[in-house]
Amino acid sequence: MKKAISILLTLCMVFSCFSIGFADVDTTDTETEKVCECENIPIVYVPGFGAGLYLNPESDDRKAVYPPSATDIISAIPSLLFAIIGIATGNEALFGKAAVNAANKLLAKLSCDDNGNPIYNTSIDPFEYPEYDIHQNVTNDITDRSFDFEYDWRLSPLDNADKLKDFIEHVKLLTGHRDIAIMCHSQGNTVVAAYLEEYGNEGVEKIAFLSPAYQGISILGSLYRKEADISGKADELLGFITSVMGESDGTNAVSVLLKILNKTGFTGGLLNFLQKYLSSQFDLIFSECLAPAFGNLAGTWTFVPDEYFNDAIDTMFEGRKDAPILDKIRYYHDNVQIKLPEIIQETMDNGTDVIICAGYNISTIPVSLTPAVHSDFLIDTEYMSIGATVAPFGKTLGNSYKQAVDCGHDHVSDDMLVDASTGAFPEITWYFSGLSHSEFPEDYYIFLNTFFFAEEKMTVSTYEKYPQFMKKDKNGNIVPVGVTEETDKDVFGFLSSIFSF
Ligand SMILES: [Zn+2]
Ligand SMILES: [Zn+2]
Repeated sequence: MKKAISILLTLCMVFSCFSIGFADVDTTDTETEKVCECENIPIVYVPGFGAGLYLNPESDDRKAVYPPSATDIISAIPSLLFAIIGIATGNEALFGKAAVNAANKLLAKLSCDDNGNPIYNTSIDPFEYPEYDIHQNVTNDITDRSFDFEYDWRLSPLDNADKLKDFIEHVKLLTGHRDIAIMCHSQGNTVVAAYLEEYGNEGVEKIAFLSPAYQGISILGSLYRKEADISGKADELLGFITSVMGESDGTNAVSVLLKILNKTGFTGGLLNFLQKYLSSQFDLIFSECLAPAFGNLAGTWTFVPDEYFNDAIDTMFEGRKDAPILDKIRYYHDNVQIKLPEIIQETMDNGTDVIICAGYNISTIPVSLTPAVHSDFLIDTEYMSIGATVAPFGKTLGNSYKQAVDCGHDHVSDDMLVDASTGAFPEITWYFSGLSHSEFPEDYYIFLNTFFFAEEKMTVSTYEKYPQFMKKDKNGNIVPVGVTEETDKDVFGFLSSIFSF
């Protein structure tokens, strides 16, 4: 017994010596694992929707299914022609059937089953972990320090977050850095939000949420509720096209032509004519094509905003509410999408520097039942900013408008289009007038570089040249929104004055 105790004591002493010895260096340090404490922080980039998907990706005859291959597009052409013939001959049923055929030719191979698993052997290209080291070519440019994460956009962000976790661990081992930064764009924000919910912020020094889809997209919510309406949208279509072209004064040839077509009633008549076909056949297109092709794609459900969610589930999963994938779709909605403000707040409280960047002053695509709103053409500014107050598109908040929440700073834009004070994080959310969804002009990169390489926490009041509201000017430069630029924003007024010549 005595002997046993002394052996135990000896073991304890030996073990504690080792512990002290190890504590001097790092507990994660081994001979093979490098540790780098330099300031060149690696950046993990999580891009938006759209990675290429392939049928039989591992085989020699791998075939692109997204984006659709030329062969698939060609095979859909006869059906498209029949759809056009249907419209030309007033045969609504022919239009509907042909449209469904054409869409299914392009979409069928992407489908997933009720468990959310791809029906066909489809996925992104076989994934290879990067092997280059940022230290070989260190510059102060985020693109030289980025490691791009790829994911299958059809799958749940929670499943992709698990893969992101492995990717981040790989980047840490490869570079020897214990801390990394994250930059995410569009749908990539849903994956990062899911990652933070699952794994927390440990080892994540900075995050830039760019053009985020994490609160959804109203046009997608509408579509998933089986709503599509283009009738009476001629002015909104004009507003959309001119704002996407960055032609807010509407002086170029396309804008003037579109305005003439609007004034003469041509566009309105055409849209109303097409709407007649859409209305009579949309039930068929929805049930035969959209619901089977997209319903089980959990990744696309992240695009449905909370206020559309329950109706969209009822519509898309009509008659099959027991589909197992619904659990995953609901889990993301309940625990990530609607808890996002708490997730980001906790991330910041635990020491991660965060910024959010959203575009505005571009109309949404005018296809839903509600009026067009401010967006980066795709995602609503209100959703990207998690709750900013945004003027109706084509109008201002009004000259007598008062900031809704008084925090001691000015959070209303000089162009009177946005009140950032009602957003979840007004001190770290930037707004870019005229910057469209996937646009990364050089100045925008410089702004992002400033964030990633700043020693201190960056807010909208840190740098005079980077205030809360910025604008892409005619030369593509990013400049602060100025008071004098207000007249630029009145698209319709300006166009009307030109048309009266
Ligand atoms: Zn280093
Ligand atoms: Zn404030």
